[in-house]
Amino acid sequence: MSKELAELVFPNIDKTPEYYEELYPKRNLPEGAMVTRFAPSPTGFIHVGSLFGANLDRRLATQTNGVCYLRIEDTDGKREVDDGINLVINGLKVFEIEFDEGPKGTEGSNGNYGPYIQSQRKDIYQCYAKSLIEKGLAYPCFCTAEELDVIRERQEKLKIVPGYYGDFAACRKMSESQMIERIKKGDPYIIRLKSQGSMSRKIRFKDMIRGIIEFPENVQDIVIIKSDGLPTYHFAHAVDDHLMRTTHVIRGEEWISSVPLHVELFKALGFDMPEYIHTPTIMKEEDGSKRKISKRKDPEASASYYKDNGIPKEAVIDYLMNILNSNFEMWRKQNPHADLAEFKVDPHKISSSGALFDLVKLNDVAKNTISFFTADKVYSEGLEWAEEYDKDLAELMKTHAEFTKNILNIERTGTKVRKDIAKWSELRDNLEYLYDEVFFEKEHEDEWQSVTDKAEIKAILDEYMKVYDAADDKDTWFGKMKDVAEKLGYAREVKEYKQNPENYKGHVGDISTVIRVALTGRKNTPDLYEILKNLGTERIQKRFARI
Ligand code: GLU
Repeated sequence: MSKELAELVFPNIDKTPEYYEELYPKRNLPEGAMVTRFAPSPTGFIHVGSLFGANLDRRLATQTNGVCYLRIEDTDGKREVDDGINLVINGLKVFEIEFDEGPKGTEGSNGNYGPYIQSQRKDIYQCYAKSLIEKGLAYPCFCTAEELDVIRERQEKLKIVPGYYGDFAACRKMSESQMIERIKKGDPYIIRLKSQGSMSRKIRFKDMIRGIIEFPENVQDIVIIKSDGLPTYHFAHAVDDHLMRTTHVIRGEEWISSVPLHVELFKALGFDMPEYIHTPTIMKEEDGSKRKISKRKDPEASASYYKDNGIPKEAVIDYLMNILNSNFEMWRKQNPHADLAEFKVDPHKISSSGALFDLVKLNDVAKNTISFFTADKVYSEGLEWAEEYDKDLAELMKTHAEFTKNILNIERTGTKVRKDIAKWSELRDNLEYLYDEVFFEKEHEDEWQSVTDKAEIKAILDEYMKVYDAADDKDTWFGKMKDVAEKLGYAREVKEYKQNPENYKGHVGDISTVIRVALTGRKNTPDLYEILKNLGTERIQKRFARI
């Protein structure tokens, strides 16, 4: 009898589960290889939490010689945007997260376990739903939205668990001949699981982050196939992760309470369970308390924020790794140049409580990351960013390519490494005062410090130019600055000044500050000697002459 019902519901399905089992055989991979997947809806938006998960998917597959594939979960057509798939693929490529299998874009795919886009897998889901109907483990439900509302209201009144289950599951109690009759009449329906669970029994399962968890069994006759013939998330999860031979399902912790349902579905379908890793929600600290990072309120919730602001991918990934495994930070300190793949992620070490995402900390990580870049890399990556986001800056950088690289090279090696750039959007501020076309055109306020008197400033600059020689080495140059200081009544050493301040107008530091500010307008710059050398005598004179 169930066969007749199944045939009536899915007359076009001529394949059996055995057919698909053979078509998608167990993967031939080395012992311990993990098969992971990133399974977004094609909304085009990549949340930082998804980036966190995708990074974990990729790392675990790579470090075990496994496979990491992309699956597009588009059974909920409402959430789709045109080109959503390409946006996901390209958005993750920015962070060097690429997939071994999956859609290549809107057309074509890599890998033997496809299609990797759920809307193209309708026949597969229906085949398995058909087999469940045959086994008496699924049935058509004809309840209308109004009828479901009535059930919900009754449950609310009784203050009991909401849902379609037990005595509330009206269609579950229908005879098969009644069902057949209604289908033949043309009544609309969806397909539900016929749950075999009991609220008084418990299931136990192991999450790799949280350990053993116990939940009551599932009792809900959840929808598995919707009225449009496509599956719900739950049903697609079971069928796809089985047939694509996923070994580890890595997904957000919001799915953890659905595991009892998934356990039942896998059992009903005769599938082995995968391992689960439910990742913590990414949180943000605000006014002393933690809250979920929000797409609506926090720009940093979007993966595109990092590209738009020019935070290098290495920094973002390093920071995500810090959140993932707290021992990563130490490892990175000891291995600043090592390839990420050399760090072995341990899923057991991931914290189960909300992962705190702190932009200030990311900023520090990024400064550190950039401090290890060569000047050429800072130049080329900065320029690439500027070409897209700050065309004027890109022009300046290209017009003065050598000069820019030399400036970026100041304090890049040695004991005092500069850590003054956290993102390419800070490059403008970092460079523009050194380009004459900006320095002389754009209004700025000179940041004079202890010496503010114009005549005194001029006297210092005059004296300085008398002795300045571009060929001097750093020691000679600094010696000359001390001579200028002494000549004009300033102490040669800060120490001397501190011992007898009444004897001096100031100290050598005041002299160098005057020179720095006259030259750049700023009180803080990279090494002054190097800046002077890079500007050259003529430009130094021109800059001093404006005072
Ligand atoms: N499409 C689901 C989501 O966007 C994926 C969950 C999973 O990875 O299984 O949340």
